Amino acid sequence: MTPSVEQLIKIGEFENGESTIIRKAYDFAKKAHQGQKRYSGEPYFNHVYATAKILCELGMDNVSVAAGLLHDVVEDTPVTDKDLAENFSPEICFLVDGVTKLGEVRFRGSRRHIESLRKLFVATSEDIRVLIIKLADRLHNMRTLKYVSEKKQKRIARETMEVYAPVAHRLNMGQIKGELEDLSFPYLYPEIYHDVLEMAKDHYAKSEHTLRNIDNKLKEELKKNKIKLISSDYRRKHLWSLYLKLKRKDMDISRVYDISALRVIVPETSDCYKVLGIIHSIWRPLPGRIKDYIAFPKPNGYQSIHTTIFSGTGNLAEIQIRTSKMHSEAEFGIASHYHYKGSKTASSWSQDILNRLLNNKPGTTKVVEAKTPAWIDEVVSGQTDESQPEDFMSNLTEDFFSNRIFVFTPKGDVIDLPTGSTSIDFAYHVHTKIGDHLTGAKINGKLSSLDTTLENGDIVDILTGKKLTPTAKWLEMVATTHAKRRIKIALNDKQS
Ligand code: MN
Repeated sequence: MTPSVEQLIKIGEFENGESTIIRKAYDFAKKAHQGQKRYSGEPYFNHVYATAKILCELGMDNVSVAAGLLHDVVEDTPVTDKDLAENFSPEICFLVDGVTKLGEVRFRGSRRHIESLRKLFVATSEDIRVLIIKLADRLHNMRTLKYVSEKKQKRIARETMEVYAPVAHRLNMGQIKGELEDLSFPYLYPEIYHDVLEMAKDHYAKSEHTLRNIDNKLKEELKKNKIKLISSDYRRKHLWSLYLKLKRKDMDISRVYDISALRVIVPETSDCYKVLGIIHSIWRPLPGRIKDYIAFPKPNGYQSIHTTIFSGTGNLAEIQIRTSKMHSEAEFGIASHYHYKGSKTASSWSQDILNRLLNNKPGTTKVVEAKTPAWIDEVVSGQTDESQPEDFMSNLTEDFFSNRIFVFTPKGDVIDLPTGSTSIDFAYHVHTKIGDHLTGAKINGKLSSLDTTLENGDIVDILTGKKLTPTAKWLEMVATTHAKRRIKIALNDKQS
């Protein structure tokens, strides 16, 4: 059965005017992919449909959804750029072209691939929707990866883990990042995946029992204190991030306190602190585990309060407190800021997402303004009511790309550094030992001085020697605190 276009329009809640191009793209893509099959034996069209559906779920605009439907027509069917241009707007064609170019990128290996990767960042920096469509495409490919050859599975999973998941993380799209990592995990490390899964399973049952009791008690207390609760639920830690944490705790799962956590969602920022106060007056918090990411958001904009408490039954439990707005931002990141022309305003739009997310009936959730993550706030602050969504997106894109550069190892691995970074930052980012023994650097094949500022797309080859090389002068030549710290340690070692 062919999936219906009506369903897409319903999920995306598009109005009549908006849905026209979606219908057109749907018909065009269906015809173009006619007779094509995926490895699974399914019609190829199901893949582009699924990609568009993810974009609808993210609340992306109609242009992105249309481009999602069309994203493989130029690459995989006889349809040409020209055919597309005759039927669709330049905006849609630009997005399709950007995603097609991304499709050619291989993130490891030959020089030609590094070239296409460079092109990719140029295309993406013009319109961040290219990247979001690519993430949706990759997510569906990962969900159906079991059908391709083993060799291909490994390559795609690695690329996902090394490139796409970090990009999703940078965009604060926690939901997609977590799913991409967990889908890659079993292909890259099947045995470890199995072990972690088994360990986690045992803990889920135990900790969720504890959380349920805490949840019930907390609900009563919030009622007594007249604090409106939007929702509370348990969230399980994604397996890959659990594994990374286990590695830091000598694989001792009893030292990981947030395998499951209780997530409490309230209307206002001030409510978050009230809830924290109530929790701490009932249960004793574990010292050193109270994290206020509302006052001090994570670099990607993540906001929430985390605390770990003694449950009273011998177990520890983590509770996360946040507003609805913080929640949708943490799950959908940059996409949660995507609002567009027409009847939908930003706030009704985020309410739509929330309703979907929290599984409430429309209209039962009140969305209130909360503090926006700083880096997004800076971009949005330039906006007026008359600002067009295009301005908003180009500002957001600029901010994302203006603070970071993407450079490459000679093998084609992507290294993401703050602007102003040098080969020294690069070397320390790759490995402390490489930084400590750095003797020189080739940038794009040319020997360059160590204080040369790296630029987007540079390929950096690090030369090393046996001796410890850092000097005090290096401290002036780096942009990352990580490099600075490592250099100081090396200087001390040299003296002693
Ligand atoms: Mn595709």
